[in-house]
Amino acid sequence: GGKKKDFNILVIGLDNSGKSTVVNNLKPNDDRAININPTVGFNSEKVNFRNLNLSLFDMSGQSRYRNLWEHYYREADAIVFVIDSSDRMRFVVSNEELNDVLNHREIKDKKIPLLILANKKDAKGALNESGLRNELEINGIRGKQYEIFATDGLSGQGVNDAFEWLANELK
Ligand code: GDP
Repeated sequence: GGKKKDFNILVIGLDNSGKSTVVNNLKPNDDRAININPTVGFNSEKVNFRNLNLSLFDMSGQSRYRNLWEHYYREADAIVFVIDSSDRMRFVVSNEELNDVLNHREIKDKKIPLLILANKKDAKGALNESGLRNELEINGIRGKQYEIFATDGLSGQGVNDAFEWLANELK
């Protein structure tokens, strides 16, 4: 019996939080075009990084399609939640989305790691990681390991550290 090598990672968060940018940064240079997988009702993209299969979900205004995501939730080995740390207007909405996912019936009892990216750390007015920790009200963790990393998806700063933490959690 070999160890599990493929991991399905849900990359979720509001539109414009930087999901595609972060994931693009993880890809090898010769593979920077995202395979778009158009599906009726919601946006999902799949990319591969080392032995991680990343599935991206854009949650903007698409809550009514959330039942269509259940398949992906069921298969998820980890969750990456991306927040625009400079978009204070939408912290509340972002927080609600995170808690909706954590309380979803396919997720709530799973002991899978949760990586929170305080993205756009370079942007004006960005809250740092401890500031964001205070703003976030995370319910429904139920034994999940979680960590917050400040990232700049454009330069890649912080992105590797974050995914290294995640890879270690998955080992
Ligand atoms: P998505 O909708 O969550 O996939 O967000 P995108 O990856 O499309 O990014 C939305 C916008 O934010 C784009 O204009 C990106 O260039 C920009 N962006 C993403 N990450 C960062 C970051 O860390 N810092 C800054 N300043 N801009 C970013």
